[in-house]
Amino acid sequence: MMRTDRVLAAWIRTRRALSMSPTQLAARRTSMWRKLQPVIARTPALAHYAGRDLAEFPVTDIADLRADYGAWNSLGMSDGELRGLAAAAEQGTAVGELSAGWSTGTGGGARGLFLASPAERADYIGQSLARLLPARALFKRQRLALHLRASNALYSDVGRGRFTFAHFPLEASIEQSVAELAQFESTILIAPPHRLAAFAQAGAHFSSLQYLFCGSEPAGDAERHFFTERLGVKPRQIYQATEGFLAAECANGRLHLNDHAMAIELEPVPGTPGYRPIITDLRRTSQPIVRIRGDDYLELDACPCPCGFAGRVIHAPQGRVNDIWRFEGRTVTPPQVVAALETVLGGDKIWQAEAGPERVVLNLSPLCPAAISNTAARALSQACDLPVPVEVFHDLSAWSGPKRRKVVWRDG
Ligand SMILES: [Zn+2]
Repeated sequence: MMRTDRVLAAWIRTRRALSMSPTQLAARRTSMWRKLQPVIARTPALAHYAGRDLAEFPVTDIADLRADYGAWNSLGMSDGELRGLAAAAEQGTAVGELSAGWSTGTGGGARGLFLASPAERADYIGQSLARLLPARALFKRQRLALHLRASNALYSDVGRGRFTFAHFPLEASIEQSVAELAQFESTILIAPPHRLAAFAQAGAHFSSLQYLFCGSEPAGDAERHFFTERLGVKPRQIYQATEGFLAAECANGRLHLNDHAMAIELEPVPGTPGYRPIITDLRRTSQPIVRIRGDDYLELDACPCPCGFAGRVIHAPQGRVNDIWRFEGRTVTPPQVVAALETVLGGDKIWQAEAGPERVVLNLSPLCPAAISNTAARALSQACDLPVPVEVFHDLSAWSGPKRRKVVWRDG
Protein backbone atom coordinates (compact mmCIF):
# COMPACT_ATOMS: atom_id res chain seq x y z
CA MET A 1 0.00 0.00 0.00
CA MET A 2 1.12 3.51 -0.67
CA ARG A 3 2.10 5.45 2.41
CA THR A 4 0.79 8.93 3.07
CA ASP A 5 4.02 10.01 4.76
CA ARG A 6 5.88 9.27 1.52
CA VAL A 7 3.42 11.39 -0.44
CA LEU A 8 3.85 14.23 2.03
CA ALA A 9 7.67 13.95 1.91
CA ALA A 10 7.59 14.15 -1.89
CA TRP A 11 5.24 17.11 -1.68
CA ILE A 12 7.59 18.98 0.69
CA ARG A 13 10.68 18.16 -1.40
CA THR A 14 8.98 19.38 -4.55
CA ARG A 15 7.65 22.59 -2.98
CA ARG A 16 11.17 23.38 -1.82
CA ALA A 17 12.60 22.72 -5.28
CA LEU A 18 10.02 25.02 -6.84
CA SER A 19 11.69 28.02 -5.23
CA MET A 20 15.29 27.07 -6.07
CA SER A 21 17.54 29.07 -8.40
CA PRO A 22 18.67 27.44 -11.67
CA THR A 23 22.07 26.73 -10.05
CA GLN A 24 20.45 25.07 -7.05
CA LEU A 25 18.26 22.99 -9.34
CA ALA A 26 21.33 21.84 -11.28
CA ALA A 27 23.07 20.84 -8.04
CA ARG A 28 19.94 18.96 -7.00
CA ARG A 29 19.94 17.05 -10.29
CA THR A 30 23.62 16.14 -9.89
CA SER A 31 23.00 14.80 -6.42
CA MET A 32 19.94 12.82 -7.56
CA TRP A 33 21.97 11.37 -10.43
CA ARG A 34 24.63 10.17 -8.01
CA LYS A 35 22.00 8.49 -5.81
CA LEU A 36 20.56 6.72 -8.84
CA GLN A 37 23.77 4.81 -9.63
CA PRO A 38 23.04 1.63 -7.61
CA VAL A 39 19.76 1.27 -9.53
CA ILE A 40 21.57 1.79 -12.83
CA ALA A 41 24.07 -0.89 -11.89
CA ARG A 42 21.15 -3.35 -11.61
CA THR A 43 19.66 -2.40 -15.00
CA PRO A 44 21.03 -4.61 -17.80
CA ALA A 45 20.88 -1.97 -20.55
CA LEU A 46 22.76 0.57 -18.42
CA ALA A 47 24.88 -1.40 -15.94
CA HIS A 48 28.03 -1.08 -18.02
CA TYR A 49 27.96 2.72 -17.63
CA ALA A 50 27.12 2.93 -13.90
CA GLY A 51 29.06 5.64 -12.09
CA ARG A 52 29.76 7.73 -15.18
CA ASP A 53 28.48 11.18 -16.03
CA LEU A 54 25.06 11.34 -17.64
CA ALA A 55 26.58 12.74 -20.83
CA GLU A 56 28.58 9.52 -21.30
CA PHE A 57 25.47 7.33 -21.41
CA PRO A 58 24.11 6.35 -24.83
CA VAL A 59 20.97 8.03 -26.14
CA THR A 60 18.28 5.40 -26.73
CA ASP A 61 15.23 5.69 -28.95
CA ILE A 62 11.98 4.86 -27.23
CA ALA A 63 11.34 2.02 -29.71
CA ASP A 64 14.52 0.28 -28.55
CA LEU A 65 13.44 0.49 -24.93
CA ARG A 66 10.03 -0.89 -25.86
CA ALA A 67 11.60 -3.81 -27.70
CA ASP A 68 13.00 -5.27 -24.47
CA TYR A 69 11.63 -4.18 -21.10
CA GLY A 70 13.75 -6.91 -19.54
CA ALA A 71 16.89 -4.89 -20.27
CA TRP A 72 15.29 -1.76 -18.87
CA ASN A 73 14.34 -2.64 -15.31
CA SER A 74 16.32 -2.89 -12.10
CA LEU A 75 14.24 -5.71 -10.61
CA GLY A 76 15.70 -8.61 -12.53
CA MET A 77 12.44 -9.22 -14.38
CA SER A 78 12.25 -10.47 -17.96
CA ASP A 79 10.42 -8.79 -20.83
CA GLY A 80 7.84 -11.59 -20.83
CA GLU A 81 7.20 -11.33 -17.08
CA LEU A 82 6.63 -7.60 -17.31
CA ARG A 83 4.27 -7.86 -20.28
CA GLY A 84 2.36 -10.54 -18.39
CA LEU A 85 2.11 -8.25 -15.37
CA ALA A 86 0.78 -5.35 -17.44
CA ALA A 87 -1.72 -7.59 -19.22
CA ALA A 88 -2.98 -8.94 -15.88
CA ALA A 89 -3.30 -5.42 -14.48
CA GLU A 90 -5.31 -4.36 -17.52
CA GLN A 91 -7.75 -7.18 -16.83
CA GLY A 92 -8.06 -6.05 -13.23
CA THR A 93 -6.15 -8.97 -11.75
CA ALA A 94 -4.34 -7.94 -8.59
CA VAL A 95 -0.61 -8.48 -8.95
CA GLY A 96 0.98 -7.43 -5.69
CA GLU A 97 2.83 -4.28 -4.82
CA LEU A 98 4.45 -3.52 -8.12
CA SER A 99 2.08 -1.99 -10.64
CA ALA A 100 2.43 -2.16 -14.38
CA GLY A 101 0.29 -0.69 -17.11
CA TRP A 102 0.19 0.43 -20.70
CA SER A 103 0.29 4.05 -21.74
CA THR A 104 -1.72 5.46 -24.61
CA GLY A 105 0.20 4.91 -27.83
CA THR A 106 0.87 7.79 -30.15
CA GLY A 107 -0.99 7.42 -33.44
CA GLY A 108 0.14 4.21 -35.05
CA GLY A 109 2.94 3.76 -32.51
CA ALA A 110 3.37 1.06 -29.93
CA ARG A 111 2.01 1.48 -26.44
CA GLY A 112 4.52 1.88 -23.65
CA LEU A 113 4.75 -0.33 -20.61
CA PHE A 114 4.95 1.58 -17.38
CA LEU A 115 6.24 0.10 -14.16
CA ALA A 116 6.00 1.64 -10.68
CA SER A 117 6.65 0.51 -7.13
CA PRO A 118 4.56 1.82 -4.21
CA ALA A 119 7.38 4.25 -3.29
CA GLU A 120 7.50 5.59 -6.85
CA ARG A 121 3.74 6.00 -6.98
CA ALA A 122 3.75 7.90 -3.68
CA ASP A 123 6.56 10.08 -4.97
CA TYR A 124 4.70 10.71 -8.21
CA ILE A 125 1.47 11.69 -6.47
CA GLY A 126 3.31 13.97 -4.01
CA GLN A 127 5.22 15.66 -6.82
CA SER A 128 2.11 16.10 -8.92
CA LEU A 129 0.11 17.62 -6.07
CA ALA A 130 2.95 20.05 -5.34
CA ARG A 131 3.29 20.98 -8.99
CA LEU A 132 -0.40 21.24 -9.84
CA LEU A 133 -2.35 22.47 -6.85
CA PRO A 134 -1.93 25.42 -4.49
CA ALA A 135 -1.19 24.42 -0.89
CA ARG A 136 -4.63 25.60 0.24
CA ALA A 137 -6.29 23.01 -2.00
CA LEU A 138 -4.76 20.23 0.08
CA PHE A 139 -6.59 21.31 3.21
CA LYS A 140 -9.97 20.82 1.63
CA ARG A 141 -11.70 17.64 0.61
CA GLN A 142 -11.06 17.01 -3.05
CA ARG A 143 -12.77 14.66 -5.45
CA LEU A 144 -10.38 13.88 -8.25
CA ALA A 145 -11.76 12.48 -11.49
CA LEU A 146 -9.21 10.79 -13.72
CA HIS A 147 -10.67 10.59 -17.19
CA LEU A 148 -7.79 8.64 -18.66
CA ARG A 149 -6.96 5.35 -20.22
CA ALA A 150 -7.87 2.39 -18.05
CA SER A 151 -5.44 0.89 -15.55
CA ASN A 152 -3.18 3.82 -15.03
CA ALA A 153 -0.46 2.22 -12.96
CA LEU A 154 0.33 5.44 -11.17
CA TYR A 155 -2.97 5.85 -9.44
CA SER A 156 -3.77 2.24 -8.71
CA ASP A 157 -3.83 2.57 -4.94
CA VAL A 158 -4.79 6.10 -4.08
CA GLY A 159 -8.23 6.74 -2.72
CA ARG A 160 -8.31 7.29 0.99
CA GLY A 161 -8.34 10.27 3.29
CA ARG A 162 -8.94 13.78 2.11
CA PHE A 163 -8.61 12.89 -1.54
CA THR A 164 -11.11 10.68 -3.27
CA PHE A 165 -9.99 9.40 -6.66
CA ALA A 166 -12.23 7.87 -9.27
CA HIS A 167 -11.42 6.61 -12.72
CA PHE A 168 -13.70 7.27 -15.68
CA PRO A 169 -12.77 5.26 -18.78
CA LEU A 170 -12.29 7.03 -22.10
CA GLU A 171 -14.18 4.27 -23.88
CA ALA A 172 -17.55 5.49 -22.50
CA SER A 173 -19.80 7.65 -24.67
CA ILE A 174 -19.69 11.40 -24.14
CA GLU A 175 -23.23 11.40 -22.70
CA GLN A 176 -22.35 8.66 -20.25
CA SER A 177 -19.11 10.34 -19.15
CA VAL A 178 -20.83 13.70 -18.67
CA ALA A 179 -23.53 12.08 -16.53
CA GLU A 180 -21.06 10.08 -14.45
CA LEU A 181 -18.69 12.98 -13.91
CA ALA A 182 -21.57 15.24 -12.86
CA GLN A 183 -22.76 12.62 -10.41
CA PHE A 184 -19.29 12.20 -8.90
CA GLU A 185 -19.17 15.98 -8.27
CA SER A 186 -15.48 16.20 -8.99
CA THR A 187 -13.53 19.21 -7.79
CA ILE A 188 -10.53 18.22 -9.91
CA LEU A 189 -10.73 16.75 -13.42
CA ILE A 190 -7.85 15.43 -15.54
CA ALA A 191 -8.79 14.61 -19.12
CA PRO A 192 -7.37 14.62 -22.64
CA PRO A 193 -8.30 17.62 -24.83
CA HIS A 194 -10.38 15.61 -27.31
CA ARG A 195 -12.76 14.64 -24.50
CA LEU A 196 -12.86 18.18 -23.08
CA ALA A 197 -13.69 19.43 -26.58
CA ALA A 198 -16.59 16.98 -26.79
CA PHE A 199 -17.81 17.93 -23.29
CA ALA A 200 -17.67 21.61 -24.25
CA GLN A 201 -19.56 20.95 -27.50
CA ALA A 202 -22.19 18.97 -25.62
CA GLY A 203 -22.78 21.90 -23.26
CA ALA A 204 -21.62 19.95 -20.21
CA HIS A 205 -21.45 21.86 -16.97
CA PHE A 206 -19.62 20.54 -13.93
CA SER A 207 -20.74 22.83 -11.12
CA SER A 208 -18.33 21.63 -8.43
CA LEU A 209 -15.26 21.75 -10.66
CA GLN A 210 -12.41 23.95 -9.39
CA TYR A 211 -9.29 22.63 -11.07
CA LEU A 212 -9.13 21.36 -14.62
CA PHE A 213 -6.09 19.72 -16.22
CA CYS A 214 -5.61 18.57 -19.75
CA GLY A 215 -2.93 16.22 -20.86
CA SER A 216 -1.78 13.33 -23.05
CA GLU A 217 -2.44 15.19 -26.33
CA PRO A 218 -1.57 18.64 -27.65
CA ALA A 219 -4.15 21.42 -27.38
CA GLY A 220 -3.86 24.78 -29.11
CA ASP A 221 -4.22 28.17 -27.39
CA ALA A 222 -7.60 28.88 -28.99
CA GLU A 223 -8.86 25.44 -28.06
CA ARG A 224 -7.87 25.89 -24.41
CA HIS A 225 -9.58 29.26 -24.42
CA PHE A 226 -12.72 27.56 -25.75
CA PHE A 227 -12.60 25.05 -22.86
CA THR A 228 -12.31 27.92 -20.37
CA GLU A 229 -15.34 29.68 -21.83
CA ARG A 230 -17.54 26.63 -22.02
CA LEU A 231 -16.51 24.67 -18.95
CA GLY A 232 -16.05 27.71 -16.72
CA VAL A 233 -12.59 26.71 -15.47
CA LYS A 234 -9.28 27.48 -17.13
CA PRO A 235 -7.49 24.23 -17.96
CA ARG A 236 -3.86 23.83 -17.01
CA GLN A 237 -1.70 21.61 -19.12
CA ILE A 238 0.17 18.58 -17.96
CA TYR A 239 2.80 17.30 -20.33
CA GLN A 240 3.29 13.66 -19.57
CA ALA A 241 4.68 10.86 -21.66
CA THR A 242 5.40 7.21 -20.89
CA GLU A 243 8.94 8.38 -20.28
CA GLY A 244 7.73 10.51 -17.39
CA PHE A 245 6.00 13.63 -16.15
CA LEU A 246 7.85 16.22 -18.23
CA ALA A 247 6.18 19.56 -17.62
CA ALA A 248 3.22 21.31 -16.08
CA GLU A 249 1.67 24.72 -16.32
CA CYS A 250 2.26 27.07 -13.38
CA ALA A 251 -0.32 29.45 -11.95
CA ASN A 252 0.76 32.02 -14.54
CA GLY A 253 -0.22 29.72 -17.37
CA ARG A 254 3.34 28.94 -18.43
CA LEU A 255 4.51 25.42 -19.13
CA HIS A 256 7.66 24.66 -17.10
CA LEU A 257 9.81 21.59 -17.65
CA ASN A 258 10.15 19.51 -14.50
CA ASP A 259 13.78 20.49 -14.07
CA HIS A 260 13.56 19.65 -10.36
CA ALA A 261 13.17 15.91 -10.98
CA MET A 262 14.24 15.26 -14.57
CA ALA A 263 17.37 15.94 -16.57
CA ILE A 264 15.84 16.91 -19.91
CA GLU A 265 18.34 17.57 -22.68
CA LEU A 266 17.16 19.34 -25.80
CA GLU A 267 18.38 17.95 -29.11
CA PRO A 268 18.01 20.48 -31.96
CA VAL A 269 15.68 19.40 -34.78
CA PRO A 270 17.32 20.24 -38.14
CA GLY A 271 15.60 22.94 -40.16
CA THR A 272 13.48 24.18 -37.25
CA PRO A 273 13.86 26.43 -34.18
CA GLY A 274 12.80 23.50 -31.96
CA TYR A 275 14.04 20.42 -30.18
CA ARG A 276 13.19 16.91 -29.22
CA PRO A 277 13.65 15.98 -25.57
CA ILE A 278 16.20 13.46 -24.37
CA ILE A 279 14.74 12.37 -21.10
CA THR A 280 16.32 11.19 -17.87
CA ASP A 281 13.96 10.73 -14.96
CA LEU A 282 16.02 11.11 -11.80
CA ARG A 283 13.36 9.55 -9.60
CA ARG A 284 12.37 6.41 -11.46
CA THR A 285 13.99 3.28 -10.04
CA SER A 286 11.98 0.18 -11.07
CA GLN A 287 12.26 1.12 -14.71
CA PRO A 288 15.10 3.63 -15.06
CA ILE A 289 14.63 6.19 -17.79
CA VAL A 290 18.07 7.40 -18.84
CA ARG A 291 18.66 9.44 -21.98
CA ILE A 292 15.55 8.22 -23.79
CA ARG A 293 14.82 10.22 -26.94
CA GLY A 294 11.21 11.42 -26.92
CA ASP A 295 8.90 11.86 -29.92
CA ASP A 296 7.59 15.36 -29.33
CA TYR A 297 8.61 18.56 -31.03
CA LEU A 298 9.28 21.28 -28.44
CA GLU A 299 10.05 24.98 -28.64
CA LEU A 300 11.51 26.98 -25.77
CA ASP A 301 9.73 30.10 -24.55
CA ALA A 302 12.55 32.56 -23.90
CA CYS A 303 10.36 34.98 -21.95
CA PRO A 304 11.06 34.45 -18.21
CA CYS A 305 8.19 33.52 -15.89
CA PRO A 306 7.75 35.49 -12.66
CA CYS A 307 6.16 32.58 -10.75
CA GLY A 308 9.42 31.72 -8.98
CA PHE A 309 10.00 28.22 -10.38
CA ALA A 310 13.26 28.14 -12.33
CA GLY A 311 12.24 25.17 -14.53
CA ARG A 312 12.69 26.10 -18.22
CA VAL A 313 9.55 27.35 -19.94
CA ILE A 314 8.41 25.74 -23.20
CA HIS A 315 5.57 26.43 -25.59
CA ALA A 316 2.89 23.77 -25.38
CA PRO A 317 3.96 20.87 -27.64
CA GLN A 318 1.69 20.68 -30.69
CA GLY A 319 2.89 17.49 -32.34
CA ARG A 320 5.60 14.97 -32.95
CA VAL A 321 8.95 15.38 -34.66
CA ASN A 322 7.89 12.77 -37.21
CA ASP A 323 4.87 14.91 -38.05
CA ILE A 324 6.92 17.94 -39.07
CA TRP A 325 6.05 18.65 -42.70
CA ARG A 326 9.18 18.18 -44.75
CA PHE A 327 8.57 19.38 -48.29
CA GLU A 328 11.47 19.75 -50.61
CA GLY A 329 13.20 22.95 -49.51
CA ARG A 330 10.50 23.84 -46.97
CA THR A 331 9.88 22.70 -43.38
CA VAL A 332 6.66 23.44 -41.50
CA THR A 333 6.35 22.69 -37.79
CA PRO A 334 3.19 21.56 -35.93
CA PRO A 335 2.91 24.86 -33.96
CA GLN A 336 2.94 26.80 -37.25
CA VAL A 337 0.10 24.67 -38.60
CA VAL A 338 -1.96 24.95 -35.42
CA ALA A 339 -1.49 28.72 -35.20
CA ALA A 340 -2.42 29.27 -38.87
CA LEU A 341 -5.59 27.18 -38.63
CA GLU A 342 -6.76 28.36 -35.22
CA THR A 343 -6.63 31.97 -36.46
CA VAL A 344 -9.52 31.12 -38.78
CA LEU A 345 -11.17 28.13 -37.14
CA GLY A 346 -10.95 29.24 -33.51
CA GLY A 347 -10.83 26.61 -30.80
CA ASP A 348 -14.19 24.91 -31.24
CA LYS A 349 -13.79 23.08 -34.58
CA ILE A 350 -12.31 19.65 -34.98
CA TRP A 351 -9.77 19.37 -37.73
CA GLN A 352 -6.82 17.37 -38.93
CA ALA A 353 -4.16 18.52 -41.38
CA GLU A 354 -2.29 15.72 -43.07
CA ALA A 355 0.55 16.53 -45.43
CA GLY A 356 2.61 14.51 -47.88
CA PRO A 357 5.13 15.45 -50.56
CA GLU A 358 2.32 16.18 -53.10
CA ARG A 359 -0.48 17.81 -51.16
CA VAL A 360 -1.99 18.80 -47.83
CA VAL A 361 -5.38 17.41 -46.85
CA LEU A 362 -7.34 19.55 -44.42
CA ASN A 363 -10.14 17.46 -43.00
CA LEU A 364 -12.93 19.06 -40.98
CA SER A 365 -16.29 18.19 -39.50
CA PRO A 366 -19.26 17.94 -41.93
CA LEU A 367 -20.79 20.70 -39.78
CA CYS A 368 -18.05 23.21 -40.57
CA PRO A 369 -19.35 25.69 -43.21
CA ALA A 370 -17.50 25.39 -46.53
CA ALA A 371 -16.68 29.11 -46.63
CA ILE A 372 -14.82 28.88 -43.30
CA SER A 373 -13.02 25.71 -44.37
CA ASN A 374 -11.83 27.32 -47.58
CA THR A 375 -10.66 30.44 -45.74
CA ALA A 376 -8.77 28.19 -43.31
CA ALA A 377 -7.12 26.32 -46.18
CA ARG A 378 -6.00 29.60 -47.76
CA ALA A 379 -4.70 30.91 -44.42
CA LEU A 380 -2.73 27.71 -43.89
CA SER A 381 -1.25 27.89 -47.37
CA GLN A 382 -0.21 31.52 -46.98
CA ALA A 383 0.98 31.50 -43.36
CA CYS A 384 3.12 28.40 -43.90
CA ASP A 385 4.12 29.30 -47.45
CA LEU A 386 3.14 25.83 -48.63
CA PRO A 387 4.70 24.58 -51.88
CA VAL A 388 1.80 22.13 -52.47
CA PRO A 389 -2.00 22.58 -52.79
CA VAL A 390 -4.37 22.26 -49.82
CA GLU A 391 -7.44 20.09 -50.42
CA VAL A 392 -10.44 20.38 -48.13
CA PHE A 393 -12.60 17.46 -46.98
CA HIS A 394 -15.50 17.35 -44.55
CA ASP A 395 -15.58 13.83 -43.19
CA LEU A 396 -13.92 14.11 -39.79
CA SER A 397 -16.87 13.50 -37.51
CA ALA A 398 -15.17 12.38 -34.32
CA TRP A 399 -11.78 11.37 -33.07
CA SER A 400 -11.10 7.69 -33.23
CA GLY A 401 -8.08 5.89 -31.90
CA PRO A 402 -6.51 6.30 -28.50
CA LYS A 403 -4.68 9.52 -29.18
CA ARG A 404 -5.51 12.58 -31.21
CA ARG A 405 -3.08 13.77 -33.88
CA LYS A 406 -4.06 17.05 -35.50
CA VAL A 407 -0.91 17.59 -37.54
CA VAL A 408 0.29 14.60 -39.55
CA TRP A 409 3.06 13.97 -42.06
CA ARG A 410 2.86 10.98 -44.40
CA ASP A 411 5.94 10.40 -46.45
CA GLY A 412 4.88 8.54 -49.59
ZN1 LIG B 1 5.79 29.99 -14.04
